[in-house]
Amino acid sequence: MTTVIARHADTRMAEIVDKVERGERLTLEDGVYLYETDDLLTLGQLANLANLRKNGKKVYFIENMSLYFTNVCEAHCAFCNFRKDQGEEGSYTLSGQEMIDYVDQHIHPGVREFHIVGGHNPHVPFQYYVDSLRVLKEKYPQVTLKAYTAAEIDFFTRISGLSIEEVLRQLMDAGLESLTGGGAEILSDEYRKKMRVEKAGVDRYLEVHRTAHQLGMKTHTTMLYGAIESHEDRVRHMMSIRELQDETNGFQVFIPLSMQPKSPKASIKRRNSAYEDLKTIAISRLMLDNIQHIKAYFINIGTQLTQVALTFGASDVHGTLVKERISHAAGALTPEGLTRDELIWLVKGAGRIPVERDTFYNEVKVYE
Ligand code: SF4
Repeated sequence: MTTVIARHADTRMAEIVDKVERGERLTLEDGVYLYETDDLLTLGQLANLANLRKNGKKVYFIENMSLYFTNVCEAHCAFCNFRKDQGEEGSYTLSGQEMIDYVDQHIHPGVREFHIVGGHNPHVPFQYYVDSLRVLKEKYPQVTLKAYTAAEIDFFTRISGLSIEEVLRQLMDAGLESLTGGGAEILSDEYRKKMRVEKAGVDRYLEVHRTAHQLGMKTHTTMLYGAIESHEDRVRHMMSIRELQDETNGFQVFIPLSMQPKSPKASIKRRNSAYEDLKTIAISRLMLDNIQHIKAYFINIGTQLTQVALTFGASDVHGTLVKERISHAAGALTPEGLTRDELIWLVKGAGRIPVERDTFYNEVKVYE
């Protein structure tokens, strides 16, 4: 394992190198500096060191399947190409049986997790969202339900009149085992206003995860970057997550999501550069010293950059997914999923050890 990082003429970078080598926590100013430096390779080496200390050469993936009960949504977030109005061409809301039919058609024997998200559809009651989970759990008891974003949970509180805790308890009773990480976007009220993020605000996003953690649930969390936000906004976002993690220790993984380009309403004209993607993964690894894994999401950054990201701090490549829709609606050019063999190839090709995991990062199989 290489731990020697070249001594640096840039004194600010040299200070950060010393801090990382000593395992000291980085500050807001450190994070912003790392975004502003063009010394990508030192940044990568630092993130690699931090990751090797936590995870060695193991890189995790899961056999999972994406499901979307409905794409009808009351919100109109500027960057979203997934949502539809009720009755609009292409809009849908699946019944439990329709979902079972879809899963029966596409599932393969190794799937151990359903990753479920969707629109905020006010035309069906909260009970619909509860029953949808129950039907799936009854039919596939061996598959873990990682379902709904914190924003969806917040939406359920509004349509049901229940508290966050009551909503979560009802969903857990129906089979919910973990929350997905979406809905965070950039945790800044100003950003949310400008980008018309018409869903849970910063405090509510964090409150839902806090409550889930207090109920004993492990959750995932994200950051959607590459629009109007500043580097400082991104680092502040990471620090909000870090602060909550200090309190609850309930996040298993942080997922930087690279914004996709098909979002004219959000003034997004092009894909993030590979340079920006790698920097964001590396800085996430360095800032979030209390979260075990940083994910390189191949759907948004491509398989080859994902391989490079594994030496820039990432220790997870998500999963098989089967038919991803949200990023593809926004212009992703990547495959809609990968097979287990392709994921193993991807990780081994980067000189790392693929580890098949369950939702909770228990190791299922190590592919030495
Ligand atoms: S991002 Fe989510 S909440 Fe916003 S419009 Fe799209 S589906 Fe609705």
